[in-house]
Amino acid sequence: MDTQIFETYESEVRSYCRRFPTVFSKAKGSKLFDELGNEYIDFFCGAGAVNYGHNNNYIKPKLIDYMMSDGIMHSLDMYTTPKREFIAFMEEKILQPRGLEGYKIMFPGPTGTNAVEAALKLARKVKGRSNVFALTGCFHGMTLGALSLTTDKTARKGAGVKLHDVTHIPAPYNYPEFDTVQYMQDLLDDDHSATDKPCALIIETVQAEGGIWVFENEYLQKVRKFCDDNDILLIIDDIQVGCARTGTYFSFERAGIQPDIFVMSKSIGGYGLPFALTIFRSELDKWLPGEHNGTFRGNQLAMVAAKAGLEFMLKENVEQQAKDKGEIIRTYIENEILPLDSRLKGRGIGMIWGIEFADIPVQGMSKKVTEKAFNRKLIVECAGRKDSVVKIMPPLVIEQEVLMEGLSKLKKAIEECLKEFA
Ligand SMILES: *Cc1c(COP(=O)(O)O)cnc(C)c1O
Repeated sequence: MDTQIFETYESEVRSYCRRFPTVFSKAKGSKLFDELGNEYIDFFCGAGAVNYGHNNNYIKPKLIDYMMSDGIMHSLDMYTTPKREFIAFMEEKILQPRGLEGYKIMFPGPTGTNAVEAALKLARKVKGRSNVFALTGCFHGMTLGALSLTTDKTARKGAGVKLHDVTHIPAPYNYPEFDTVQYMQDLLDDDHSATDKPCALIIETVQAEGGIWVFENEYLQKVRKFCDDNDILLIIDDIQVGCARTGTYFSFERAGIQPDIFVMSKSIGGYGLPFALTIFRSELDKWLPGEHNGTFRGNQLAMVAAKAGLEFMLKENVEQQAKDKGEIIRTYIENEILPLDSRLKGRGIGMIWGIEFADIPVQGMSKKVTEKAFNRKLIVECAGRKDSVVKIMPPLVIEQEVLMEGLSKLKKAIEECLKEFA
């Protein structure tokens, strides 16, 4: 396998290619193929960017037709036919049926972190306060504003400047006996807390990069109430666990709550194309024209793919698929994987699951598992503190037999590691 060019000329900053050291050339559905013709099962799913599978057969012809008709490709934020069609579909078929009518759609730059930056700017502007509450273990992106929320120390160090205007609140799983919502209230009420009242609290409903921590509905409802009681905006980052990943299109639906602002990216682009949205209650729309800007806000191909992706999601009932296959994963973990060693733990919801190796005192155990899995032609990543969790995140449309085959490869990789190292 010729990887010389990359190693010689591409920056040391590259990361995933070190974990999956081959040269990929094709992808279809839930499989990736490398230049040697090896076939890999994808339990990584572009970190959640290809929920509807690689090169989805429903979306692909719509993109080809659009290009063949010389549809406009670049337009900044000018009005275009694909943008009208996307907004209309999103509004009528996705937001309104979920009780989210009257939310405004903003197109920030095409990455998740850009959607987070826009949400932060807007929250600070609307409330006139600079501080934001975020949870330990969260991940919200790598540009300065989003990075100041993110708690990973290595990522923060890379900033090279002080990251500020964020108060980090312990995530509920950090101290199960401790009422972290009451703690936030105390920070506001105590005149010796040294903490400025925030404009917003930002959360993921499932901390994905943080190690697959699913927040209980009751916690999410308490957080919603805390924000209401204190005139604080609730921002939900649905970039990784939105788009039907947890079994409902928006991950917060299960708790029956609505955020004031929410951000989407990854699979909203349908086909793995860069696309992001910041969506908020219309009364928050205090932007001046051009106040947040960007050359690639109007990624037309992504808009075509995004609408087609939503059509596909509804047509194939992908939410139900995620619930059903999520149960298969849950059952497999409980019956086949956890019994391998009493120190293993499993947690997840829908089609995002984690296997926790923190209690096995072998350095990098979960990384070793992903390496063994890769040798068995399964692509699976780590997450969480010290990368101690193996994250299972297949495309939502994975065929049941491929899912079972992937799970069995993972089981074998874990067995091999337990035998060899633990
Ligand atoms: C991936 C991710 C981001 C950042 O998105 P980018 O497109 O990588 O900038 C932000 N929040 C969450 C929860 C993510 O998973």
